Amino acid sequence: MEYDLIVIGAGIAGLSAAALLANDGYRVLVLEAHIEPGGCASSYQRKRPNGEHYIFDVGATVFAGFRPGGAHYWLGQKLGLTWPIRPLNPAMQVWLPDLRVTRWGDERWIAERQRLCPSQAWEAEQFWREQERLAEVAWRFAGRMPPMPPESLADLGQLATTIRPEMLNLLPALPRTVKHALNRHKVDDRRIRAFIDGQLLISAQSSHAECAWLYGAVALDLARIGTYYVEGGAWNLAKTLEQALLKVGGEIRYRQKVSQIQTDRGQVVGVTTEQGERFRAKQVIANTTVWDLAELIDQPPSWMLRRTIKAVPQGWGAATLYLGIDEAAIPQGLAEHHQIIANYDQALGEANSVFISLHPADDSSRAPAGQRAMTISTHTDVGRWWHWRQTDPARYRVEKIAMAERMLDTVTLAMPAIRHHIRYQQIGTPVSFARYTQRKRGMVGGLPQWRSISGLLSLGPQAARINGLWLVGDSTFPGQSTAAVTQSAIQVYQKIRMKDER
Ligand SMILES: Cc1cc2nc3c(=O)[nH]c(=O)nc-3n(C[C@H](O)[C@H](O)[C@H](O)COP(=O)(O)OP(=O)(O)OC[C@H]3O[C@@H](n4cnc5c(N)ncnc54)[C@H](O)[C@@H]3O)c2cc1C
Repeated sequence: MEYDLIVIGAGIAGLSAAALLANDGYRVLVLEAHIEPGGCASSYQRKRPNGEHYIFDVGATVFAGFRPGGAHYWLGQKLGLTWPIRPLNPAMQVWLPDLRVTRWGDERWIAERQRLCPSQAWEAEQFWREQERLAEVAWRFAGRMPPMPPESLADLGQLATTIRPEMLNLLPALPRTVKHALNRHKVDDRRIRAFIDGQLLISAQSSHAECAWLYGAVALDLARIGTYYVEGGAWNLAKTLEQALLKVGGEIRYRQKVSQIQTDRGQVVGVTTEQGERFRAKQVIANTTVWDLAELIDQPPSWMLRRTIKAVPQGWGAATLYLGIDEAAIPQGLAEHHQIIANYDQALGEANSVFISLHPADDSSRAPAGQRAMTISTHTDVGRWWHWRQTDPARYRVEKIAMAERMLDTVTLAMPAIRHHIRYQQIGTPVSFARYTQRKRGMVGGLPQWRSISGLLSLGPQAARINGLWLVGDSTFPGQSTAAVTQSAIQVYQKIRMKDER
């Protein structure tokens, strides 16, 4: 069958690109391996024998980019979408071993951040002010939807129209890491650095020592630019996009795993699925990781793909715990989202840091009356899980239980009574993420935002260097999060439109 365009994957990036292009009249087919859209930003339903059900968010739970200048906002305006969202304020609370900090989205954040270290409050304030100044310029730049990184002369021309004099302020930040910025402002307090590391881990897959300062400044700004809850669960973001796609004549097929992208003399010609079906198109958008893209193409990967895979042979994985709990476990007045760091002396991840999300009490669609559905996640090394799974399945099962217990220990710091109130429990590992999202070895969150592969040096949508083959998603610029991957989809949409109009 022949289409104008095939999209591999109904993640937020794939669906956004598909809906935009179908809306402009392209014959679009989306092939999705799973039975639901949304990928890492989806949800699943669990029915109990007694008829009760929970809706758990599988990964993403806190969303940004819905205000003017944001990628979801841009897309919503373009397609006339009503997003099923409500604002969150605070965005989250961060529990350090000796202090709880609230990430307000308004000016209350200024007083709050000064509590992190009163003895370095002045120095830290200079750091935060620089962070906010940089982020504001960067957000305005992102809002102009620049083609980043530029991959052709046409891109350079287009990029030039998005440059403004204020961007000169960004130049000194380009060669720096967050650590340079902290050092420059003489901020060496352990608590501030731990707080920043926790926030960067979930937003940049990196720590202050390695994270590019410009990316870090933006990542640390997320609470301030407005965070949101998706009503009924994260999957309603993807379902909104799916409906927009179908409304304008786009097609989506589930349980269709693409096993190969076919090319002919440097031009993409179509895809084959695991079931052996062939679909033809001169444009294919891969909503995959860089590691998966390299394996899907029927020819050796480009230099750019190889360079990136060599720089990051392995990304982070996530261990997730999905709990149905009694509301009685939730202390009065607790916010809905929490990052907890249990111990300063241990590395983050592996249950020493966890992220907890509850849905608002009045969203009764997510859990039986008097209960809540909860998603808890922690960064984890994917290699160990695959090793256990492949060499010692019994050990894999034991390690899963042990991880769940360690995560619960950390959650107990915020919800001391939780163990007495668990009605349902399921754990996910990188093996589960690989199964449900097709991401190689279950590696999630995209690439770490190190200086050498961030911003101008990040992967562009044409990194495969094959005519008609485009990459969207969190391996490409600007990086992870539903807002970022939507930005990557908008970029591909604009490039395809420009190319076809020429
Ligand atoms: C635990 C966790 C917590 C997170 N928290 C947040 C958060 O709070 N806020 C936030 O904004 N972001 C968060 N993120 C990051 C965010 O979820 C991702 O960056 C984003 O959703 C990635 O979207 P994507 O479209 O690039 O890819 P994916 O979500 O990976 O979607 C890709 C889709 O393509 C399909 N697919 C892949 N290969 C094939 C194939 N060969 N054939 C057919 N189909 C295929 C997959 O099944 C999947 O549906 C979190 C991620 C995780 C794992």
